[in-house]
Amino acid sequence: MGNIRVAIDGPAGAGKSTVSREVARQLGFVYLDSGAMYRAVAFAAIAKGISLTDAAALTTLANDIDITFDQSVPPRVFLGGTDVTSDIRLPEIGTAASIVSQIPGVRVAMVRQQQHLGARDSIVMEGRDIGTVVFPDAEVKIYLTASVGERARRRAGELVATGKFVALDDIEQQISERDYRDMNRDDSPLRVADGAWELNTDGIVIDDVITMIVSRVRTHS
Ligand code: C5P
Repeated sequence: MGNIRVAIDGPAGAGKSTVSREVARQLGFVYLDSGAMYRAVAFAAIAKGISLTDAAALTTLANDIDITFDQSVPPRVFLGGTDVTSDIRLPEIGTAASIVSQIPGVRVAMVRQQQHLGARDSIVMEGRDIGTVVFPDAEVKIYLTASVGERARRRAGELVATGKFVALDDIEQQISERDYRDMNRDDSPLRVADGAWELNTDGIVIDDVITMIVSRVRTHS
């Protein structure tokens, strides 16, 4: 039997990371957070003083960049061997990632690496374009969503857990702006992939969402 690819897309804060990680763990699949790759590109660009609108320089950076993950829970992210796991989680890096991810050359470089990983192992990959562009023929496609208010509350909780305090209104505004950019860009906008199963996680216990997805993958295979 060939590899199974589970594509989990959706807007910021819909619960994709928690769900994807646990689904991968229960199934024994590799987990990949494609958003962390765009965040790493944005972080590297800022560190090198590259303008977030310099498409040529950002494309070169995305082609040369060395992003790796380890298998800890949650996985740590390394940029050229340096651990950037917590640096890339800052809200301003999320905003910067949604700006650099509009550049087609950056997307081509990231998608190539993601497809390479999916060809090697059964994988759960989360992002914005996994079911539409990276693996349009994924065996299972999920679109996770939730209301903006609920998503902002979850993000605030994650930040508090890492010792950072940001006003809920500011998070809600950042999320809304990021959604708008992600859904309205020309290249690979966030949308529900053909054949995707849409799940709104408002008021649903996250463990139930995980169970539903795991059983959907099991019945597929
Ligand atoms: O998933 P996360 O919120 O960490 O992603 C950060 C940003 O990276 C998103 O707002 C989006 O602009 C971009 N992204 C993307 N395609 C993906 C994953 C993330 O464009 N597959």
